[in-house]
Amino acid sequence: MTRLKLVEDGISISQGNGITVTTPSFSISLDPRSASDCDYSFVSHAHIDHVHLPNGKSKVIASKETKELAKVRGYDLGKSNHEISGIELYDSGHILGSRAILIKDRVLYTGDLSTRDRAFLKGCGIVKCETLIIESTYGRGHYVFPETGNLISQVNKFISECFDNCRPVVLTGYPLGKAQLLSYLFDIWEPIYVYDSIHRMNNGHIKLGVELKEFEPFRSTKEFQEKIGRGPWVLIAPSSGGKSNLVKTMKERYNAVIATFTGWAIDSRYRNSLSSDKAFPMSDHCDFQELVTFVKGCDPSKVYTVHGFSDEFAAYLRRLGYDAEPLGAATDPQFKLTNFAT
Ligand SMILES: [Zn+2]
Repeated sequence: MTRLKLVEDGISISQGNGITVTTPSFSISLDPRSASDCDYSFVSHAHIDHVHLPNGKSKVIASKETKELAKVRGYDLGKSNHEISGIELYDSGHILGSRAILIKDRVLYTGDLSTRDRAFLKGCGIVKCETLIIESTYGRGHYVFPETGNLISQVNKFISECFDNCRPVVLTGYPLGKAQLLSYLFDIWEPIYVYDSIHRMNNGHIKLGVELKEFEPFRSTKEFQEKIGRGPWVLIAPSSGGKSNLVKTMKERYNAVIATFTGWAIDSRYRNSLSSDKAFPMSDHCDFQELVTFVKGCDPSKVYTVHGFSDEFAAYLRRLGYDAEPLGAATDPQFKLTNFAT
């Protein structure tokens, strides 16, 4: 356990296995990496770097959707939550089921955060708090993402050009979150196929009430290969960072055009490192301006930044007059895991 921060009235924040908030009536671990000994463990959402296998000692707090999607990934987070005095959850707008948590009406932890409405996802609203622990993945000034409608038009134009040239298109993104947005936003194209991992996650969303079309999984059988050989198609596939077998196969075998969807596409260095033909800056996180707007709306007296550009974002907030500091080291595990992938 490292560095202890005192809030007020016996509330303290410390770091170790995730972030721990201790109050006079309970302790809670926020997005722990492994089973925690706190009274409660909060799992903000079902991305793999946020879920853990509980040991039964600590009661897991997560939305119903997070528990269901974690189950698809093989994690049993236990049954639904009961009302807990001093804990409120808010939709954090990152992926289906993602939540921010307000502890004792004072400490707000955002988890991964997006404030913009996208397809079936509603952006996180403002939550007033005294202490704000906010993610800062894109906490550097040049990360400003285009308006979603504008991006959708660009992508449709791109797919249309590929179809005109009779070339298949592969849209790649995180299998949970981004892939379902792609499935929803671009379902006017036909035919659309999906990778198995995405098929499972799409089905998980459909069971939870999201109106996604059911797409056929991509197969390596002879019949399937003959069928797709006859014209252009869209495949939604998991993103794989830089060079990958998937991209190579799709290009060599099908003459497909590959597009990647990530906020890191703002960086030319990132775009150039890809074997994709195109990269669209579509993210499930706040951009820099959205982070700043969120902080201003929450009106906290203390801000802790976590993940990504936590040092730089805290420094920027200090220049605006906030009492802000990074809570995690700049090289924290999430940044390594999700760097160039979310
Ligand atoms: Zn996430």
